[in-house]
Amino acid sequence: MNAALGLANQGFETVIVEKEPELGGLSRQLSTTIEGADIQKYLDDLIKEVMSLDKIQVLTNALVVGFGGFQGNFTTEVLVGPTMYERKINHGVAIIATGAREYTPKEFLYGQDERVITQIELDRRIEEKGASDLHRVVMIQCVGSRNEENPNCSRICCQSAIKNAFHIKSLNSDTDVWILYRDIRTYGLLETYYAEARRRGVKFIRFDKETPPIVESGAEGLTVMFKDHILKQDIRVLADLVVLSAGMVAQDTEELATIMKLPLNQEGYFMEAHVKLRPVDMASEGIFVCGTAHGSKLISETISQSLAAASRATTFLSQSEITLSAVTARVDEDRCAACLICVRSCPYGVPKVNEKGVSEIDEALCHGCGICVAECPAKAITLNWYEDDQIMTKVDALLEGAYA
Ligand code: SF4
Ligand code: SF4
Ligand code: SF4
Repeated sequence: MNAALGLANQGFETVIVEKEPELGGLSRQLSTTIEGADIQKYLDDLIKEVMSLDKIQVLTNALVVGFGGFQGNFTTEVLVGPTMYERKINHGVAIIATGAREYTPKEFLYGQDERVITQIELDRRIEEKGASDLHRVVMIQCVGSRNEENPNCSRICCQSAIKNAFHIKSLNSDTDVWILYRDIRTYGLLETYYAEARRRGVKFIRFDKETPPIVESGAEGLTVMFKDHILKQDIRVLADLVVLSAGMVAQDTEELATIMKLPLNQEGYFMEAHVKLRPVDMASEGIFVCGTAHGSKLISETISQSLAAASRATTFLSQSEITLSAVTARVDEDRCAACLICVRSCPYGVPKVNEKGVSEIDEALCHGCGICVAECPAKAITLNWYEDDQIMTKVDALLEGAYA
């Protein structure tokens, strides 16, 4: 929505394609940020602003089913609404902002005992019921993150735990809050909240990956057992609630990545073209990424990235002409045997077999990487400026005199 506003406020028509019946995604389930900002109020104001602008069209219950074209000339096919009517959108750029979801834990009796909940569920519970009935809450960090299945840190769950610990303490200072962690990763200025949590009496206990806590369910409460690495003793505490700091996971990215031929990283998030030099561009020109579609991040980081994506998209849309690279591949039709090797090997899905039964490469889409040139068994593909004769002449010149 922020990216759409960024574009619309600069005069560009924007269409938001939303899979759900309502805008807002995961942030609909959150109440406040760690700094205390009211997320629901921010979201309501943002939605109102988006809906009020003529330059923005919002399609809800909408599913992308087709995508084609090249930078400045894309066409996306969308099925919209309960009637699933088909809509074709012609557009110059695309911004991917499909979001992510909270990991659904398989660990620590989650789903078996209703007193075991996640940080997002705790946020909602505190909003609805307060904390007056809570005597002790035990939080367990790194659930579904930093393990064999998902080796990376989810970045945001340490601050979620501290945010909710603050919230509980501000409603009921007598509630005993324990946070069992492997490492606390409240990066940057968030570290001050960690220090403040310690001052307010939140207990932080470290555990080893090899000896994680054990949670047992009983009539009088949940028993959490863990080893304290300083006391070198097993500790057993009784808790009203066990809260799991479940990480974030990519949401339904595979289908869209296949349709739009976009690369995903190992965790299933959309991958930028270059982590430092082109952090919101995707490998395909004219497509940008922002928010948790790109990896887990805070709301403030998501907003900054969405503005960056809108800014990059505007830079592109403001040009009256696009200059394409001269280094592109072309097929010699007479040599092509339609073996499909180039179709399968191109990382950008550019070569297509045309109605004449031979491979065809659209120069507007080709990135000039040369992979298909090297793969073609019939030597039917040439890369402009890197033709065999040119390369061999250079090699001869380089080695001139070496044969003597
Ligand atoms: S942010 Fe904290 S709880 Fe989340 S995966 Fe990283 S270290 Fe673990
Ligand atoms: S790899 Fe070469 S021969 Fe095979 S389809 Fe492509 S251009 Fe034709
Ligand atoms: S040069 Fe690279 S991008 Fe262009 S068609 Fe061949 S494999 Fe695809």
